Amino acid sequence: MRLILLGPPGAGKGTQAQRLVQRHGIVQLSTGEMLRAAVAAQTPVGLKAKDIMAGGGLVPDEIVVGIISDRLDQPDMKNGFILDGFPRTVPQAEALDDLLKKKHIKLDAVVELRVNESALLNRVETRVAEMRARGEEVRIDDTPEVLSKRLASYRSMTEPLIHYYSERRKLLTVDGMMTIEHVTREINRILAAIGAAEEAKASKKGAAKRAAGGAKSDPIPAARKAAKSTVKRAAASKKPAKPPAKPARKAGKPAKAPSKAAKKSSRRASAGSRPRATKKVGKSAKKVTKKRAKA
Ligand code: ADP
Repeated sequence: MRLILLGPPGAGKGTQAQRLVQRHGIVQLSTGEMLRAAVAAQTPVGLKAKDIMAGGGLVPDEIVVGIISDRLDQPDMKNGFILDGFPRTVPQAEALDDLLKKKHIKLDAVVELRVNESALLNRVETRVAEMRARGEEVRIDDTPEVLSKRLASYRSMTEPLIHYYSERRKLLTVDGMMTIEHVTREINRILAAIGAAEEAKASKKGAAKRAAGGAKSDPIPAARKAAKSTVKRAAASKKPAKPPAKPARKAGKPAKAPSKAAKKSSRRASAGSRPRATKKVGKSAKKVTKKRAKA
């Protein structure tokens, strides 16, 4: 599994990445952690990055791209990885595309953790308090002033990646305002759907090869369809924004007035601060899945 976790500081990327590492036996590549290690070790990269990081700015692209490129060549990458904090700019994403192409590595998905900005300061304050309680060293950029700079740079430099990966049909958005446990479950569910899609693709490929002359099939759209209730891939940005989700209904039943869950989901979608053609994966989708399982 090869993933990117996308989200503002405090969205829960680090927490979720650790859980994914444990569950899937893959490696977490956090550029923030790598840079902090470089700063602590006073390497040439660390010396360049130190003041930039302390001020909440972004380290130059060529530095982080270089770090990631070297890291992707390590043997422990073969089971997969989660990129956390990288890419952070469109040029970084383009550089990553080139790197992956050269190294013949396929990216499976980009998981965006979407959170309300108003919750972020609280979350970071809680993280700081917890780290202090455990006697750990607190990050020097975890202050309200630097956090607001980090947030501003997320908005201007990193948020465009949502569009970038949405266009490439890689983006999956998860509601990061749910509990840690819920977010983990949602991510695992969408990853399972991707895994199933990949398997279906592999077996169809085999079948297509055997049936020489048969029509070629592309299993990915089919897999997306299969995962429709759980995985909401971002619509290609060129398409117009879709109307709110269709009312959930049980298989075999005629369409009727929207269910509570569907109403809630469409309310939530329209209440979003950013107008985009992405859809949310959340509680309502889960309810629908449960209902379907029951049926
Ligand atoms: P957060 O996501 O909470 O802001 P990180 O630990 O990911 O924190 O990053 C901390 C700091 O490291 C960033 O504010 C930035 O200065 C630097 N950094 C990390 N990743 C990148 C990157 N991909 N490009 C540029 N700077 C980065």
